[in-house]
Amino acid sequence: MNIMLQTAQDTIREAAKKLGYDEEKIQAILEVEAEHIFEVEAGGKKYPAYRVQHSSKRGPYKGGIRFHPDVSLDEVRALATLMTLKTAAVGLPLGGGKGGVVVDVRSLNHGEIEELSRAYARHLAPHIGSQKDIPAPDVNTNSQIIDWMIEEFEAQIGQADPGAFTGKSISRGGSEGREAATGRGGAIVLGEFLKSKKNDKKPLTVALQGFGNVGYFFAQTLRHMYPNLKLVAISNSKNTWVKTDGVDIGDHVGHIPRPENLADLAAVKPLPSDAIFGVKADILVLAALENAVNSKTMNQIGADILVELANGPITREAEKFLLGRQKIILPDVVANAGGVIVSCLEWQQNTSGEKWSEEKVNSELNDILVKATKEMILYSERNHRSLKQAAFELALERLQ
Ligand code: GLU
Repeated sequence: MNIMLQTAQDTIREAAKKLGYDEEKIQAILEVEAEHIFEVEAGGKKYPAYRVQHSSKRGPYKGGIRFHPDVSLDEVRALATLMTLKTAAVGLPLGGGKGGVVVDVRSLNHGEIEELSRAYARHLAPHIGSQKDIPAPDVNTNSQIIDWMIEEFEAQIGQADPGAFTGKSISRGGSEGREAATGRGGAIVLGEFLKSKKNDKKPLTVALQGFGNVGYFFAQTLRHMYPNLKLVAISNSKNTWVKTDGVDIGDHVGHIPRPENLADLAAVKPLPSDAIFGVKADILVLAALENAVNSKTMNQIGADILVELANGPITREAEKFLLGRQKIILPDVVANAGGVIVSCLEWQQNTSGEKWSEEKVNSELNDILVKATKEMILYSERNHRSLKQAAFELALERLQ
């Protein structure tokens, strides 16, 4: 079994056992409700494609679609399962699903990406919709791709259904604040955790693995809202850049810069990508891909607090190892829930015909995440659980 699926299932199993569930009940939670396995064609080539609908217990299936060469059915199952736990952990009226296409988007031109996106939505049209399953962006997908998908979907069903996809562009019915939401949410959860430990006044240092949409907006939020958190290192899939007196990422409207193009890093000698794990910083934020901290990299971790901003970035073996070393892990199902929370707000705006200001969206996002973080911390302290165990147990109780 894929390591991420194993990690997700083992974590659920452990939480369910603590809650006294029997094997039959655990199996029912792990089982997916439906799977769609198909192929999509673009530029004359066919690519394997999936949509896994894990649970609709709390509402329509909800979760992104990723385009990546390492996508597999088991990975999509793991991600769909995590979405069910995530929406429950932060109390949204939504279930869990996920989609993926096995494709290296760098090998496709603009027209082929459009063709692929439209083919994906066309195939899934009978199985999705604002009351059934609501896809959104994930790794390597964005508002442009979602716009193509909803257009194709609405053409298939012959009517408008603006809440059928979230993460749309603003002009197509998307929400203010959605693009920044996952990164922003991660900063809010971290800030709330530090406040609960009464160390939000001390300056702390932060190393950031991953500088895509999520990592970039996390860094921007630190810059604007958390002056006591100093970014001292950034990595991407190729390199790590360390600047102990702080990295100023600057303002960039309409695009996400590559770290190598940041003026503040021009004089910094790049290190190998994996060097990020050993950077001397108080906090390590994992905003790249799953299984980043594993049996090979877990020994290198220098930080005391890790934030799971990607989905499943720490394997179970590494999690046990790090907890044994008294490290704190802010779990993905809460730390990166900002994206799906603002997706939910987008869906609510679409179904009610309202349009909210960025301030209103950000304030709702803040309230939902602060509440979920406080509940997780309280449960963990009262019941002597790690934060991840606490978040999973709280989520499972809401899936009854
Ligand atoms: N892809 C994001 C996630 O993993 C967002 C999903 C959504 O907005 O539905 O949480």
